[in-house]
Amino acid sequence: MKALDELTFDNRFARLGDAFSTHVLPEPLDEPRLVVASKAAMALLDLDAAVAETPVFAELFGGHKLWAEAEPRAMVYSGHQFGGYTPQLGDGRGLLLGEVYNEAGEHWDLHLKGAGMTPYSRMGDGRAVLRSSIREFLASEALHALGIPSSRALCVIGSSTPVWREKQERGAMVLRLAHSHIRFGHFEYFYYTKKPEQQVELAEHVLNLHYPECREQPEPYLAMFRKIVERNAELIAKWQAYGFCHGVMNTDNMSILGITFDFGPFAFLDDFDAHFICNHSDHEGRYSFSNQVPIGQWNLSALAQALTPFISVDALKEALGLYLPLYQAHYLDLMRRRLGLTTAEEDDQTLVESLLKLMQNSGVDYTLFFRRLGDESAALAVARLRDDFVDMAGFDAWAELYKARVARDGDYTQEQRRERMHAVNPLYILRNYLAQNAIAAAEAGDYSEVRRLHEVLCKPFEEQTGMEQYAQRPPDWGRHLEISCSS
Ligand code: AMP
Ligand code: MG
Repeated sequence: MKALDELTFDNRFARLGDAFSTHVLPEPLDEPRLVVASKAAMALLDLDAAVAETPVFAELFGGHKLWAEAEPRAMVYSGHQFGGYTPQLGDGRGLLLGEVYNEAGEHWDLHLKGAGMTPYSRMGDGRAVLRSSIREFLASEALHALGIPSSRALCVIGSSTPVWREKQERGAMVLRLAHSHIRFGHFEYFYYTKKPEQQVELAEHVLNLHYPECREQPEPYLAMFRKIVERNAELIAKWQAYGFCHGVMNTDNMSILGITFDFGPFAFLDDFDAHFICNHSDHEGRYSFSNQVPIGQWNLSALAQALTPFISVDALKEALGLYLPLYQAHYLDLMRRRLGLTTAEEDDQTLVESLLKLMQNSGVDYTLFFRRLGDESAALAVARLRDDFVDMAGFDAWAELYKARVARDGDYTQEQRRERMHAVNPLYILRNYLAQNAIAAAEAGDYSEVRRLHEVLCKPFEEQTGMEQYAQRPPDWGRHLEISCSS
């Protein structure tokens, strides 16, 4: 374990120079205080959880202090937002403080969000509010615990700094960790500004640091693009299988590593609803739950366009063609597991689709359904679940197919089945209303609920005594909460 001042920096991105980022110092928050820290994320930096409680921790991550080796930089990028190209975006309120490597030799970007104005702030104030910082923190760590690749969050630091959104709120900072903060939009920026030399530098940087195995391939850039396609297909399959709605899949929010990145008005589904739109400014439903699948491909095509100086259009098209089949295979595999199946049959896709249709029509809770399905033998579980469905006859018909399918699947005890299913079907997810409760308490100065919720979400598959209230459907007020996209 290390003390806070013993972090070892190696700022590889900063070394790319001023064409890629600008030196900016964080603007400190008034009266910084720890809201919540993630023990697991701290361990990634070899930090003992206890240091989070020391004043210097809040000073460092509240923008008051910096390590001598940190080189805070605002990165420049651009991107397609809601389908239209915005020529210049960039870190308008976040700073890459530097890259730290841990004892295992892993590099982690330390990115401080809400750190004040930068040359890329446009009309913004460079700040982030407590509400959105808590949401990003909880979601990053919850997704990770579910096995869904995501940027991580080390801590949230609160303050007394006033920040204006729809009303006056308080400023906060979240310290985000990722192996890279490079987005599709980085490549788009250098492509559309016609800076081929920098684009090569960027591609070489990503290839060397994040896809070194592609060097061995006859066309390393193409191999790297294929990997990015694969990782995104897998990521989005996981979102769909677990009911995660990102909300703002603009290409500047898509990571080159295929991790969940840049949280805004995201949501986990309560009731299953394929058409769910979590971002209330998304009037067209461009980023609705089911649209995430084709939008994933659209975003990859935008990246492909930016790579046309290096890779032939035919090769790019062929690589893009991998996306849907990979997505489908991965998604079906996950859904089979969620249903407790260990083998594959051709009709499994129909089994999944017909179940989702029934759930959609009856507004069945997406998370609890699968959890309960594993609680007892297939026959008993479906008998118990049937009351949740308006179309009981339809559900009975599905249940007959399911029971027969389970019977053909293999010879295992109910105990084995339950264990296997509970290991992939969470009991606790970050429901919007749970986040909302924790935020309301935190805004009133009580951080205990954020901390408790975070602890519960770190072990989503494990039943935790005394935590039943976190495994319930939302109360009426907490259903279909509109999440403001201001943050
Ligand atoms: P986002 O929707 O959070 O992905 O942000 C899109 C762009 O707006 C990025 O360039 C952000 O850095 C920038 N941005 C968002 N909020 C602010 C803010 N309050 N101040 C400055 N820039 C911001
Ligand atoms: Mg963004």
